[in-house]
Amino acid sequence: MRATPKTYPYEGEQRSGEAIASLWAKRRHPGGSGSAGMRILIVEDEQDLAIALARGLRRQGYAVDIASTGEEGWEKGEVHDYDLVILDLNLPEMDGLEVCRRLRASKPDLLILILTARSRLEDKVTGLDLGADDYLVKPFHFEELTARVRALLRRDLRVREPILQVRDLKLDPASRTAWQGKRRLELTAKELSILEYLMRHPGEAVSQEKLIEHVWGEDADLFTGSVRVHIHSLRRKLGDDAENPRYIETVVGQGYRLRVEEGSV
Ligand code: CA
Repeated sequence: MRATPKTYPYEGEQRSGEAIASLWAKRRHPGGSGSAGMRILIVEDEQDLAIALARGLRRQGYAVDIASTGEEGWEKGEVHDYDLVILDLNLPEMDGLEVCRRLRASKPDLLILILTARSRLEDKVTGLDLGADDYLVKPFHFEELTARVRALLRRDLRVREPILQVRDLKLDPASRTAWQGKRRLELTAKELSILEYLMRHPGEAVSQEKLIEHVWGEDADLFTGSVRVHIHSLRRKLGDDAENPRYIETVVGQGYRLRVEEGSV
């Protein structure tokens, strides 16, 4: 039997933006609608700025909380169900990049907008690598911030590619991140692409040639041995065993298959 990958948050249905927005608002915040259902956390140690931002965003209908240290931001982000976090980088107790890394690891669907006086390119790149969705350099106009916030929430509702899920494996094609249960998998780009392809074809035997074509490109001049090497390290990171596979089975003469059910074959 072939299982379809589960998608999030709207099970692959095609709906209009408004329908999705109201569905989203109802799911996350029963009774809410539109921006009134959206909950934002501001992590910012400059109190005047945090208060001004919160006031402005509340006026636009968002529910807003403030955290004034990195540690507090991380804790609130873990405990509450926010749609978006506006995150400063220079923070006491815990650096903003660390907050970003931790929240991204445990909350795959959370939107993160980094807000900082640092204009150095390397900080921006690091932030985006750690899974931030957007970046705004101080000083900025409030209108620019709200435009970014609206765009992020809209993108999340309409365009964001569904998160793939097969059993306890989750993979976000947009942020190129994968999880096994709650644990974030530290995968190379190639391993992630292989896993993504297998998750898009769960329960199907996928040939090494197919993987090469999709992961390396059609012109790739590779031996199938290099696929084996990557499958081997992917299995190791999943805690899987080629002899007695829980996830990736070798199908003799056909390739590899991602198992859709636990238990023996
Ligand atoms: Ca700061």
